[in-house]
Amino acid sequence: MRKDSFPSGGVSSQERLPQIVVVGASLAGLTLALACATRGVPVHVVERSARRVHGGDSLSIDLAALAATVGHDPRAHPILPVVPAYRDLTTWPALYSWLHDRAAGTSGITFEEGKAVTSVTDLGDQAQLSFADGTQRVADAVIGADGYNSIVRRTIAPEAPLARYAGYVVWRGLIDEQTLMRPVPWPSNGGLWIEFVDGYRLVAAVLPGRDGSVEIGRRQVTFAWFDVHREELLRRTNRLTADGYIVGTLGRGTIDEDVRAELVALIPQLWPQTWAEAVAVGVRSTDALSGAPIAEYQPERLARGALAIVGDAAHVVSPMTGRGFATGVEDAAVLAQMLADRRADEPVSTALARYESARLPFVRGLVAHSKRISADYLRYAADRRLA
Ligand SMILES: Cc1cc2nc3c(=O)[nH]c(=O)nc-3n(C[C@H](O)[C@H](O)[C@H](O)COP(=O)(O)OP(=O)(O)OC[C@H]3O[C@@H](n4cnc5c(N)ncnc54)[C@H](O)[C@@H]3O)c2cc1C
Repeated sequence: MRKDSFPSGGVSSQERLPQIVVVGASLAGLTLALACATRGVPVHVVERSARRVHGGDSLSIDLAALAATVGHDPRAHPILPVVPAYRDLTTWPALYSWLHDRAAGTSGITFEEGKAVTSVTDLGDQAQLSFADGTQRVADAVIGADGYNSIVRRTIAPEAPLARYAGYVVWRGLIDEQTLMRPVPWPSNGGLWIEFVDGYRLVAAVLPGRDGSVEIGRRQVTFAWFDVHREELLRRTNRLTADGYIVGTLGRGTIDEDVRAELVALIPQLWPQTWAEAVAVGVRSTDALSGAPIAEYQPERLARGALAIVGDAAHVVSPMTGRGFATGVEDAAVLAQMLADRRADEPVSTALARYESARLPFVRGLVAHSKRISADYLRYAADRRLA
């Protein structure tokens, strides 16, 4: 095996090459990279996807917390388009692009995309990465921001490497309003519409258009349809293991015609006219519909030696908490500050251990809360089935 040194792309020869590697350049990885770089800690980010990833449709966001963490204000030019709801809402692609563009233009962050990590090893005061292309590297520290099915977590917590199925799938889509017969009226309850019918749950909202416009007719409509009836589908398609762990999602273009037809047939009896057309357009479209099997992961550890985890790699919660990304932003702020405050004579592992002590009680509590609200939802759905 070849052992590479870090590439110097984007880093001038005067700067120290980044020796902290972040695995994963999605929302948590980009947020952490920016948080580190703006606090004077250079990082190198590796991402398995060669092109920009598509990871979701919509999410609530705390703009002030994001600004304080990443050192760029999403309310100042170039702004991140949002619509006000109980919290501000934005689209996943808009947030991802905003973070990616800020990170690409920030000194102290280097990227390698199209580079998949296959394993990491803690060497105590350093960490070793192995890649799918057969290469290996040694870094001062490796931070996993590699999502719910994290490779880095497998080394940090080999006794509990996987996230457990919470018992429901969320069908979701993001639809251009101009593809609908009529524009969607603004939800009367402040932007986000949530309804439970016959054991299903629908969350829907109107969001800025692809160009950021909030003009009627040019916006996007998002929906998240919670469904407890998909365990057999997840098992058959190898997304759910025999012992109840989630190891894959139902991505765009992978959902069978018969499943989509079943969902389309349910729409008129479940969802009001306001949202029914957008949901039907989304469910019918192979490119728009995806299914997220909801998983939960309550960590026992967030660090081990020269390794740590942030975002969904560290803790996985139900979207009913509205806290997945928000908690990743908090992880990034705390971890970046601990790395920046590290004394020159301290090993990186000391800062990572401090991060674990600061964050573990809170994130464990959040996952416990997630499990309670998932259990409430499953009880409600079971009651409706018996009724
Ligand atoms: C329906 C739904 C609604 C939600 N709504 C909200 C909300 O309103 N508010 C909120 O705060 N949160 C919300 N969330 C949660 C939020 O979307 C997630 O917490 C967040 O997107 C997770 O980001 P992440 O970067 O940690 O993980 P991911 O998005 O999973 O990113 C992981 C990255 O790591 C890369 N990667 C993985 N493995 C490797 C490897 N081996 N080598 C290299 N790269 C790798 C992947 O390609 C990917 O880019 C919602 C989630 C869902 C499903």
